Amino acid sequence: MKNRHLHQRNYKFRLYPSALQEQQLAETLDGCRWVYNYFLDNGFTSESEYDMNYALTELKEQEPFLRNYHSKMLQMVAKKIASANKALKALRKNGHKVGRLKYLHSGDYNSFTYNQSGFDITSDGQLWLSKIGKLRIKLHRKAENIKQVTVKREGKNKWYAVICCEFAEPIFRFVDIKKSVGIDVGITKFVHDSDNHEVENPLFLKKMLKPLRRASRQLSRRQKGSANYQKAKTRLQVLHERIRNQRMDFLHKQSSSYSARYDLIFLEKLRVLNMTRNHRLARAILDSGWVTFGSMLKYKVKKVVEVYSPNTSVDCSHCGNKVPKSLAVRIHRCDKCGLVLDRDHNAAINILQRGLESIAATKKSSLPMERREVTPVETERSGKQESIVVEAHD
Ligand SMILES: [Zn+2]
Repeated sequence: MKNRHLHQRNYKFRLYPSALQEQQLAETLDGCRWVYNYFLDNGFTSESEYDMNYALTELKEQEPFLRNYHSKMLQMVAKKIASANKALKALRKNGHKVGRLKYLHSGDYNSFTYNQSGFDITSDGQLWLSKIGKLRIKLHRKAENIKQVTVKREGKNKWYAVICCEFAEPIFRFVDIKKSVGIDVGITKFVHDSDNHEVENPLFLKKMLKPLRRASRQLSRRQKGSANYQKAKTRLQVLHERIRNQRMDFLHKQSSSYSARYDLIFLEKLRVLNMTRNHRLARAILDSGWVTFGSMLKYKVKKVVEVYSPNTSVDCSHCGNKVPKSLAVRIHRCDKCGLVLDRDHNAAINILQRGLESIAATKKSSLPMERREVTPVETERSGKQESIVVEAHD
């Protein structure tokens, strides 16, 4: 396997369990939660994963019902606690006030994991899980070389499998510099690119903001634990889920359209903007949209380069003259060279140019700045697991 990188990627698939299987899945969640809470109750949280695993073997002698669960799955519970504790410790060390891990009630514990073994995709395209059996799954893409399967419950009773696949990919992929573009993301528009193609923010976002605000206000007014609280919580969950599904669909379409047209994409490194309170919710949704959009591009497009580039909206993309303007000014007008164009288009051209310069600088070779010829660029991909989850299509 010379010249090849192994890397892993998570794919999310919708599961369609039967009523009986759904009960089994819920019981499995309960079993894992029982172990989780047992460790918490018995002061194991400061112990290592190894110690917890050791305790687990003894625990199975006392509690024979635990043998109904795949043993590796219960070990993953110990791993979950150990890594959560590690994260808490790190936060504490950095001066954050953090609590401790909480006892989890039914409904708070929503996933279990098979690592290395206990799963398979059957020849008739179903997901087989040890101790559970064959589950109907919507395989919207091939799942091969599976390393891990996590079953998740989302919302009330939607079930998903997040499947981690490992694959080898050549380190070098050839990229056509001519097929490059700079993309500017914004609040008024979703994207505006250097080829003057713009995409508006999807309408569903605007439409959903009001009900979303109302639902979260309602939840905050209800008494915690009451029936009305539960109702308000479910309503909020449903709204979030609806938005997420619509957004994922939108992002998939946008990123696929870019990957079909371009080999090389330059994105501006996202800055954190200070927004007024009113904008915070919309902003949070948009932010996560851009991050996901960036991750999708990274696996769909041959090469994506993030460009750190301040002043992209100030500098004139033609002559470099500084043209400061407030957010309200939508047109870039340069007194020096006479360039007039949309401010976001100007920013996108700056991103493209600086991106190409940065590649030329790191390559130390004479990369044609005018994108005249096809120049192969090495793209290196890391062997690390990408944390991105490719969402399921319902
Ligand atoms: Zn100019």
